[in-house]
Amino acid sequence: MAAIETYLNEHSEAFLKELFELLRIPSISADPDCANDMATAARWVADKLAAIGMKSEVIPTKGHPIVYGESPKVDGAPTVLVYGHYDVQPVDPLDQWVSPPFDPEVRQGRIYARGATDDKGQMLTHLLSAQAWLQTEGRLPVNLKYLIEGEEEVGSEALSAYVAENTEKLACDCIVVSDSGQFGPGQPAITYGLRGITCCEIVVQGPNRDLHSGSFGGSITNPALALARILSGLIGDDGKVQVPGFYDDVVPLTDLERKQMAELPFDETQYMGQVGVPDTWGEAGFTALERRWARPTFEINGLTSGYQGTGGKTIIPARASAKISFRLVPNQSPETINEGIRAMVEKLALPGVKVEVRGMHGAPGLLVPLDSPYVAAASKALEHAFGRAPVMTREGGSIPVVATLHKQLAADTLLLGWGQDDDNAHSPNERFLVEDFYRGIRASARLWEEIAQI
Ligand SMILES: [Zn+2]
Repeated sequence: MAAIETYLNEHSEAFLKELFELLRIPSISADPDCANDMATAARWVADKLAAIGMKSEVIPTKGHPIVYGESPKVDGAPTVLVYGHYDVQPVDPLDQWVSPPFDPEVRQGRIYARGATDDKGQMLTHLLSAQAWLQTEGRLPVNLKYLIEGEEEVGSEALSAYVAENTEKLACDCIVVSDSGQFGPGQPAITYGLRGITCCEIVVQGPNRDLHSGSFGGSITNPALALARILSGLIGDDGKVQVPGFYDDVVPLTDLERKQMAELPFDETQYMGQVGVPDTWGEAGFTALERRWARPTFEINGLTSGYQGTGGKTIIPARASAKISFRLVPNQSPETINEGIRAMVEKLALPGVKVEVRGMHGAPGLLVPLDSPYVAAASKALEHAFGRAPVMTREGGSIPVVATLHKQLAADTLLLGWGQDDDNAHSPNERFLVEDFYRGIRASARLWEEIAQI
């Protein structure tokens, strides 16, 4: 791969120039005024794919277009699907940007622009690595498919539908996503697990209007109390969710995972300070990191009932409601869990009120076995590019589109983030270390070689 390394070094400036071109297109998917720019950005990605020798197409959708690319067929070689997105978040508040968001510049080794790290800069690394292969070796060691969407920041609706209808076209052995961060500066990570989620709203309806708590109190059920009983009944003193069968399908943490997590430089006291709490709490028998990454949870996201103005008002409110969510882990099925939640809420409801569970929707979690050959291949590629073996991490959040790809295409999924925690994704002054951009390209180029050798 010496020729490739030389090519990467010789073209570093050209690569940066190309990234700047893409960063100058204000492709804000949420802003209807940017519709033309969205089309321009999609075209730019498709043209770039074509320029490096890929078959490429811009696929119109009900929303923003999807870009698809495919490398020249290599018989017998594994197929990797690269997922990324060309859309970006809005830029408000504009006055907090040191330099204009769509006028990229490098300051102190960092590229400043909206989309620099999320996800134009990271996505482009996987195109440039393929370019290096094709330019120097005249071939790629693997088959590459690119699926680059324009609606990641607004819910990926078109993509989910497209994937469901095109599982054969998108068939692959492994999915690669670079749209996140390293564990710390210079410490690369492979994220091999994501949590799923299910959300809903519980609405408790009592009397037909707010009532005098003196005149009526004692004779009817208070909806706020009924709601509080339901919510507190959903979780035990030991932090365990009380929905029947909730833990039945949970894939337990292996000894190796617990060991790896315990060895990560995560300081619980420092973490408490960071978020400003006097203590951590959660499911008994697990560390804070284990609970955040690999255990399911119940959270109340919002609560509404009764009088919230100045002073007191002695009423029995007519209504109470709460928005709640459960983070799920593999292999919990949102559908099965939802049934359990409904049954449990019904069981916990006091008489004398009407209780409704509304708007249930969810997405499953994702877990790639640590002994997957693709994890091993990525480890070698990352160690080569970053000069340091990656740590294995899971992510407490949910990335529904990645879970969809993983499930629909039934392929091992590798989340290889090149960014940093403080890259200001979604915030003013979004940035991406120039060095991380180059390391990402180098890791990607090596990854194709490592996967070919599986
Ligand atoms: Zn992103």
